[in-house]
Amino acid sequence: MATYLPAAFLRSLRVLDHFDPVAFEAVHASGEQVVSVHMNPEKPILQEGRWPADLTEPPFQISGRLAWAPDAWYLSARPSFTLDPFFHAGNYYVQEASGMFLAFALKQAVDLSKKIKVLDLCAAPGGKSTLIQSLISPESLLVSNEVIKTRVPVLYQNMAKWGRANGMISNNDPSHFKQLPGFFDLVLIDAPCSGSGLFRKDPEAASGWSSDGVRLCSQRQQRILADAWDCLKEDGVLVYSTCSYSKEENEDILDSIFQQYDCISTPLSPDPEWHIVETVSEKAGAFGYRFYPDKVAGEGFFISVIRKKQAVSQVHSKYSNARSGKQNRSPARIPKSVELQIRSRIIEDTLQMIPVGDSIHALPADLVHDFEILKNTLYLKKAGIRIGKAGENDWIPDPELALANILKGDQGSMDLSKSDALRYLRGETFETRMSEKGWQIVSYRNQSLGWVKLLDKRMNNYNPKSWRIRQ
Ligand code: SAM
Repeated sequence: MATYLPAAFLRSLRVLDHFDPVAFEAVHASGEQVVSVHMNPEKPILQEGRWPADLTEPPFQISGRLAWAPDAWYLSARPSFTLDPFFHAGNYYVQEASGMFLAFALKQAVDLSKKIKVLDLCAAPGGKSTLIQSLISPESLLVSNEVIKTRVPVLYQNMAKWGRANGMISNNDPSHFKQLPGFFDLVLIDAPCSGSGLFRKDPEAASGWSSDGVRLCSQRQQRILADAWDCLKEDGVLVYSTCSYSKEENEDILDSIFQQYDCISTPLSPDPEWHIVETVSEKAGAFGYRFYPDKVAGEGFFISVIRKKQAVSQVHSKYSNARSGKQNRSPARIPKSVELQIRSRIIEDTLQMIPVGDSIHALPADLVHDFEILKNTLYLKKAGIRIGKAGENDWIPDPELALANILKGDQGSMDLSKSDALRYLRGETFETRMSEKGWQIVSYRNQSLGWVKLLDKRMNNYNPKSWRIRQ
């Protein structure tokens, strides 16, 4: 039996339908690890779950396909992802299997072919945001928000690696979104929670569980929901999820939403063979979907989909300015010759270059209007793809541009062996036989990793310090 699970925790779960204490404890005692990845569909390296025949050192072995999410696979063992250049090129994201059910939920509840605006309110480190970005149309907008400042860089790096231009990152408290009434068609609240669903992966975390902790999480979840409600459009969809088993953080939260707001619960229809448990909240009869590790190949997870009925009140001044003035730095000027150099590198048909602070960003032209609204409302940390900084005659391309889907395909890159790719990722320099000087993309098996600048006798490695690997 899994002795690390606190007795009070196990007792608290006995109220739950379908909770099987014996199987639950046994699966926690087994120490079994389920490892899964979501492959980036815009940077394909697998064909139907198989590696190319000439890849002599595949980074991992696939053991099966995930039933409820596209491009998602189980691995037979956990490799060292840090030592895999494909991981750094954004070819995949290591993502917990149950959480990827979000893809199934969105496909059932939202018309993803339409142009929509999505908010991922609690986004770091970015797993669900990368999944959403692969599902929405290129004209749609994803705002990935993270309130904790120190967690923004990892979110930034993961979104940059994913490579899409239709995303923005903000660093705001949920209450700031009240300034955007009815702005979003879809809001995901993957709420901070007591985390019991991950105890099998991290047994030490179990000792920190307490019923007081669950109560505090539940109160915080209610506050976050109340703060976010206004920014959802009428008829818009709210997805609420946690990685907790506690009823107070799941079904009871649904009841509190239905008590305060006019909304409809959206049932989903997962295949019965997936063994996902449908639950219904006590008061409102709202549907939720529970994942138990003794029933599904994944960790503990809860998700529910709610549609908003009530009209958004128009009491707020339309998209007023909630930021401090300090972000209004004068924007970068882009000298003509530099602009031409940049334009020769990027696919520009649908992109607009916008100066933000001292950097130049490329944003789908369709999203510039939204950017204008959001930059006056939120602390935006990223908008589209940051393409670089302009000097008088030259420009310094941003690492993000090398990883993005907006670079022209005819760049020519310096394709590296695996050992040189790892040296690049560590920030080292190495021998190069390239005769062409200047800014060059470096890649591993044609998957871009970043920039180097080739000079007469040496190379400068432009992999940013904070992205370097230390192994
Ligand atoms: N959605 C993320 C993913 O798939 O990678 C995981 C999100 S994690 C479950 C919850 C996030 O909520 C954390 O990044 C945490 O920093 C953030 N958070 C913590 N307190 C918060 C608060 N009061 N309001 C909003 N978000 C909060």
